[in-house]
Amino acid sequence: MRPFTGSFTQQETIAEDAIDAAVEVLRSGRLHRYNTVGDELGPVAELEKAYAAYQGAEYCLACTSGGYAMATAMRALGVGPGDNVLTNAFTLAPVPGAIAGVGAEAVLVEITPDLVLDLADLETKIASANPKAVLLSNMRGHLCDMDALTALLDRHDIPLIEDCAHTMGASWNGRKSGSFGVAGCFSTQTYKHLNSGEGGFLTSNDPEFMARAIMMSGSYMLYDRHGAAPSPEVFKDIRLDTPNMSGRMDNLRASILLPQLEQLETNIERWNERHDLVADRLRGVADVYVPHRPAEESYVGSSFQFLMPDADADTMRQVVAAAKKLGVELKWFGADMPVGFTSNHQSWRYVTAQHLPKTDAILAGLLDMRIPLTFSLEDCAHVADILVHVVGQALRKGAA
Ligand SMILES: *Cc1c(COP(=O)(O)O)cnc(C)c1O
Repeated sequence: MRPFTGSFTQQETIAEDAIDAAVEVLRSGRLHRYNTVGDELGPVAELEKAYAAYQGAEYCLACTSGGYAMATAMRALGVGPGDNVLTNAFTLAPVPGAIAGVGAEAVLVEITPDLVLDLADLETKIASANPKAVLLSNMRGHLCDMDALTALLDRHDIPLIEDCAHTMGASWNGRKSGSFGVAGCFSTQTYKHLNSGEGGFLTSNDPEFMARAIMMSGSYMLYDRHGAAPSPEVFKDIRLDTPNMSGRMDNLRASILLPQLEQLETNIERWNERHDLVADRLRGVADVYVPHRPAEESYVGSSFQFLMPDADADTMRQVVAAAKKLGVELKWFGADMPVGFTSNHQSWRYVTAQHLPKTDAILAGLLDMRIPLTFSLEDCAHVADILVHVVGQALRKGAA
């Protein structure tokens, strides 16, 4: 089998219009978001306006990272020390990290083989943990039944925060991911759907929640220079009652995100062509399970996951090693120790250890792969061939 030579971590370069916009900001010297002239909005405020419109949200705050957006959302809801927050047992470290960062306890909820929150376990843990909020992580772009989830949380009167780091641009029944709870949290870190190196958005339709979040982000008394903020009256007391925990986005990042946002829908199509090509190939392979995509879900295929539910750890290691030899980078979430960006609840030692047999069984057979847009469709077909080859080989060896 011919090895693949593409890079799984090489994103597309920043387009010329974004580079021009960045150079313009640099030449102006006005990189701080509130360093505006007259009543111009400035790039960060323009970006907030544009993202709120894209998302269909009343309000949007641009900030330093997705992790900052999640922590700010919890703080703006009054989550603090001693509170329990429910979240997915399968997610990446910034999620339990954000919960720990506000002094709260992460209570981990099992996932299903489709890599989404197990709603039955959620209900059990709502009863046992009396959570202050649910921080739903739409991990690797898989959406749970959002109608069932919101009905359940409404019944128990628990606020929902959505971690949409992997679902920017995705939707459920035509409604954008991030618009189902009080807050949507997004990341513009290089490996997500928009690339400013680091960065994030917090969206909401709740004016007081957003006023608190804006004050926390370090707006001083300049909240009227935002692009998608509640009206100044909402800030009357909030501006004096809310601590400043600096996490503003700067004009340089905003300037390169604005033109990228215009390309997002096109890029989603490009991701999905690539993702579906690989997924369709793997779906036909014996002993492989490709997570089901419900008809209500419009996803963004910026990564691909598949499971080998009956394979043992040695077989999983063999698949990863054989793929690597042929140039394909797979992440196995069942390894004892996290590697690179992978993460497993057992390695979050700052979180109270929890018994999650269903999730552990799923992670033991779960493989994950990035799909950068620098890959052509031919590249993706080549990668799919390699996957089919190495999986078949490892399973035959295991059976022998
Ligand atoms: C990347 C990521 C985040 C947070 O993003 P940062 O901008 O890096 O803080 C949150 N959740 C998940 C699942 C992520 O992958």
